Amino acid sequence: MNMRLWAILGLIFLCLNSLSANENFVCTVCQKHVSRGFTVKGSFYCPDHVESALPRCYNCDQPISGRYHEVSERKLSICSTCREKIPQCFLCSLPADPQRGGEALRDGRHVCADDSKLAVKTAQQARRLFQQAEGEVRDTFGSALRLKDPIARVELVDLKGFERAAAGSGHINGVKAGKVLGVTTVVFVSRGEEKWLEPAVIHLLDHVSSRRMLSVSAHEYAHVWQAQHHRDYAQTKPILREGFAEWVAYKVAQRHGRQDQMTVMMNPNGGDYYLGLRKFLELERQRGVEGVLTYAKKATKI
Ligand SMILES: [Zn+2]
Ligand SMILES: [Zn+2]
Ligand SMILES: [Zn+2]
Ligand SMILES: [Zn+2]
Repeated sequence: MNMRLWAILGLIFLCLNSLSANENFVCTVCQKHVSRGFTVKGSFYCPDHVESALPRCYNCDQPISGRYHEVSERKLSICSTCREKIPQCFLCSLPADPQRGGEALRDGRHVCADDSKLAVKTAQQARRLFQQAEGEVRDTFGSALRLKDPIARVELVDLKGFERAAAGSGHINGVKAGKVLGVTTVVFVSRGEEKWLEPAVIHLLDHVSSRRMLSVSAHEYAHVWQAQHHRDYAQTKPILREGFAEWVAYKVAQRHGRQDQMTVMMNPNGGDYYLGLRKFLELERQRGVEGVLTYAKKATKI
């Protein structure tokens, strides 16, 4: 599961135009006629009230009059100072400011105050969320996505443990950057004519918010289902596997009204995850949910 770091959505430059002295303007806030002031986004402000029109930094709450950054899927305004001087949250790229509840984790990651409040920190919590996600997949798809064999275990790990679990998964760069939040390990075994699949093991990265972890869990569950049902899973392209898993997670988020999660999944910087999701949604429009599931069991690419 790729995290799709939101990073900077846009670098915004706010233009404060000083107006000419011999014209008469009405301040949007105090309604007084003044000869000098500023326009901000098309409205006029006297020098006393221009500050109220400026965006404020979500982290330090200072008014921003120059360049600033829009960060995370919430598009929050962050001043250049906070952006440059404070370590960024591994999940959403907001400043993880220790003075405002941000956390520095032992494995080198930083978590912003907002995500820290929702962070999943115990294995018990993670397993409960995974079970909830399994229930939500059932609510969304009925018995169509039932597993043939149960999942062996679900582990919650820090970045170091996650890197070990993901070694050889092809995800290693994303894992190092903290962008991949879940890894499913499925081992195919063959002895002579006999072939079988060892029970899957799932590793979830800790300190991910509970809402995100539900999406990651649905995604990893979908990998297990597809591995158990595909006739030639080893031949499938990453875009097919990640696209299908994202589509399952997306449908679950939609069904349970988690718009924020749908927005995260629809981030165009998501590579195969995003492109694959778009293709599966298109396939669903053409063939319906049944058609998508049939496709997911046979196709090697999309
Ligand atoms: Zn995945
Ligand atoms: Zn005024
Ligand atoms: Zn700031
Ligand atoms: Zn964050």
